[in-house]
Amino acid sequence: MKIEIRNLNKVYPNGNQALKNLNIDIEPGIFGLLGPNGAGKSSLMRILVTLMKPTSGVVLLDGKDIQNHRRELRSILGYLPQDFRFFTSLKTWEFLDYSAALAGMKNRKERLREVDRMLDQVGLLEVRDRKANRLSGGMKRRLGIAQALIGNPKLIIVDEPTTGLDPDERIRFRNILSGLSQNDVIIILSTHIVGDISSTCQKMALLNKGEIVFSGRPEALVGEARGHVYRLHLTEYEFEKAKEEYNIISTIPVETGWEVQVVTDTPPDGNAVLIEPNIEHAYVYYMEHKIHADLNI
Ligand code: ADP
Repeated sequence: MKIEIRNLNKVYPNGNQALKNLNIDIEPGIFGLLGPNGAGKSSLMRILVTLMKPTSGVVLLDGKDIQNHRRELRSILGYLPQDFRFFTSLKTWEFLDYSAALAGMKNRKERLREVDRMLDQVGLLEVRDRKANRLSGGMKRRLGIAQALIGNPKLIIVDEPTTGLDPDERIRFRNILSGLSQNDVIIILSTHIVGDISSTCQKMALLNKGEIVFSGRPEALVGEARGHVYRLHLTEYEFEKAKEEYNIISTIPVETGWEVQVVTDTPPDGNAVLIEPNIEHAYVYYMEHKIHADLNI
């Protein structure tokens, strides 16, 4: 299976250009789409699930334009929208059973087995008989994940999936996705949370103001920041000055003042030590330095 996004543009009726000439190839595995709010992620997701048409350009699924093959696309799709809501008085298991039926699972016995397996995976088995609209916010989110994953979809699209999840729930969710990614499925994960990307995604794209500014493996993004991240010790006074001068990523109070990590093109004076970047450093480096430098601003 393969998705090819070609020269994709989206201009909303009010003139907002949300996507600018995107070209992306997506193969089985987890593909992370990272970008700040307003970057165009949801617009792209809505086009990919055929809820919205592009202004121009195409999305090909195994060579076929998805706009002309909506039913085919939807039959293999599991989708968690950013604002997943449901209005139902169904019990949790009934809601998921309904989702499974919609996803094409016809055999009732098999479906019920799958419903409980899925409820167990997302940690909702204990509340299976509770009305879905009585679940807590985090539980509703997990039910949203379950309805996207049930019925063995070959294409899974999740928009800001970890919003509202606790740290341990986030880890559980990542593990579920990693497990699924072994099975020749395409998983597209859109997020503004850098930490969602690093450990799960084989490939990623960084979207900014409707444009792809990086695409490749997360390690390659990290590689771009190598040689630009420093750790240094600052007194209180120096720290105040440094705040104006540098992109400070992390600060830890120490006896003599502060230990900080900064992302910069020019080495800071004094006791700065070059350190190995992580994906958060790389994200800041890319968004704050590289793009600005490339655009000469
Ligand atoms: P993200 O999901 O990355 O936050 P969106 O795709 O929601 O980004 O938005 C991208 C841009 O398109 C933003 O500038 C946003 O204001 C604009 N936008 C989104 N939806 C609409 C709409 N229905 N009408 C007009 N502009 C919109």
